[in-house]
Order: sequence, then C-alpha cells, then structure tokens
Amino acid sequence: MTIREKELAGVSPGSDPPRRLPVLLAHLVDPFRRQPAPEPAPATGFYTDTTVCIGCKACEVACKQWNQLPADGFDWTGNSYDNTGTLSATSWRQVKFIEQLPSRSVPVLPGPESDGFDPARWLMMSDVCKHCETAPCQQACPTGAIIHNEFDNVYIQPDICNGCAYCIAACPFGVITRATIDGHAHKCTLCYDRQRDGLVPACAKACPTESIQFGPIDELRERARQRVEELHRRGVAGAYLYGDEPGPSYSALNSFYLLVDRPSVYGLPEMPVNPWLAMKGDYLRVALSGVLSIAVLLAALLGGR
Ligand code: SF4
Ligand code: SF4
Ligand code: SF4
Repeated sequence: MTIREKELAGVSPGSDPPRRLPVLLAHLVDPFRRQPAPEPAPATGFYTDTTVCIGCKACEVACKQWNQLPADGFDWTGNSYDNTGTLSATSWRQVKFIEQLPSRSVPVLPGPESDGFDPARWLMMSDVCKHCETAPCQQACPTGAIIHNEFDNVYIQPDICNGCAYCIAACPFGVITRATIDGHAHKCTLCYDRQRDGLVPACAKACPTESIQFGPIDELRERARQRVEELHRRGVAGAYLYGDEPGPSYSALNSFYLLVDRPSVYGLPEMPVNPWLAMKGDYLRVALSGVLSIAVLLAALLGGR
C-alpha cells in the first residue's frame, strides 16, 4: 500500500481527504525553519594522559568505525611505526609514535637503574582537534559553518561549509583538511551525536588504558593537575600539562594533554598563536589606507570645483 493509499484509508467516509500540497510544502520548508537553540550544557572535552598510552590505536579505529570514515590507503611513511602520518578530513584521530633512542649527550642523575645517560623510550600520543576555547578556524570561517555547540565543542556543519579552506589556514595545529570526496572541511566532532544521546565519545570508550579521558572540562583539569603532582612525586619531573590554561597568544584548549617532553617533540607548536592577533597590524594598515584613499578622492573632487 502506498503512503497516499494509507492516508486515504484513514479517512472516514464523507470527510475531505488530506490535501497533499500543504503536506508537501511542510516537508520542503520545515527543515529550513529556524529551530530553538539547544539549552547550553556543561562544557565537555578531553584530557589525554600520554604517559599511559600504549599505542594500540583502538581510538583511531573506533573513530573511523563510528563516523564511517574511509581508509587512507596502506602507505608506508618510513618515518615511524605510525603510518597514519597526520590528522586529516578522513583521520580525525592519529596516534603518534615517537621513538627516542639513547642520547649519549644528555646526562641525567646516575642511579641504581641508570648509567648516567637518558634511556631509550617511546612516546605515544593520540592527537585530535583541540576544541580551542577561542577557535581561529571558527573566526576565519566566512559562512558560519563552524560553531561552538551546546557542549562548547567546535563543530563543523558540513552542509554550510563552502570548501573555501580558510579554516585550514587558520588552525595552528594543522587539524583540518578538505575531503576529496565532497570538497568540505571535516574534523573531530567530539562525537556530538553520541553526546546528545548521553554516550561517551567512541575513541574514549575504546581506549583500554584511559589515556583519553572525557568529561566536564573543569573536572578534567582538576584530575589532570592531580596526576601531574602524582607523577612528580614518583620522579617524573618533566610531566606537565599542555593547553589546560590560556597562554600569552592563545586560548585554553578543551582537549589538552599531559606531556613529558617539549611540545615540538609531539608535533605541537611550542607557543601557538591565534593568527587574528598576528594580523591586527595588517587590518589596521588596510583600514588606514582605505581612509587615506577616500580623503585623497574627496580632496581631488572638492579641489576640482
Ligand atoms: S585545533 Fe584547529 S580545528 Fe580544532 S578548534 Fe582549534 S583551531 Fe579549530
Ligand atoms: S570524539 Fe568522536 S569524532 Fe572525535 S576523535 Fe573521538 S571518536 Fe572521533
Ligand atoms: S586507545 Fe588509548 S592506549 Fe590505545 S592508542 Fe589510543 S589513546 Fe593510546
């Protein structure tokens, strides 16, 4: 039975059948009507403790699977056992493997398990969009496709993205790229769909060591600070938090990290800069030259009378 037949079957004899045109119009127009904004919820984010990451890549796979992202091929980078290589429109998580060989040039305090030099070690870190409190990608987007949603996560609405790539240039972490399949910019959504259903993001759910911790951002910051203190007590003097607080040239990150080496070792900028701050002088120069041009034009017009 067709939909129309079902509609007519429900009509009692003598009454008018439902009119199709208004129903059709409602179907066409309703999706474009402005809906009430969702109620703001507590800000959520990620705290990633790199000291307990074992590089299993379950988070990467869970993200691909949940978001139905295509494979990126089987290229061998030759740089590392990580062959994902970089975050992209089709890899919203990337687990970095950083192999540090013994450095005979960096002496450490001799002890029962040390000959006085750094031991070899692996650093592993699951990278993702930082969900910046003040997000340059959002500031640069000319169509309003990038928003902070009700969980204060930075979210790209692909149907509004026109593929101009301004966000790609604006992100100091190299998170966003454009997908060849649809030409739109894509990145981690912080599993908006799962959060709306009260679920933990797929990557955090899959992580067997709780390296990726999800929750209200204030709680995560507190938990992370306690962990740094604990690591210091246990002798890991180099442990610190990256992005938990605003810096001189960048806002706090709602996806922040516990690291044990310099940020650049993990491929993170030592001191991220919001491009808008660096371009203030350019904006001023453009405005001044505009004012000057108008003044010269007016002077020429009035002087020619
Ligand atoms: S890390 Fe980059 S893509 Fe993510 S919110 Fe910040 S600026 Fe935007
Ligand atoms: S929060 Fe969701 S979209 Fe973001 S990296 Fe994790 S699984 Fe992927
Ligand atoms: S699932 Fe957890 S332990 Fe495994 S690679 Fe990802 S962050 Fe590391």
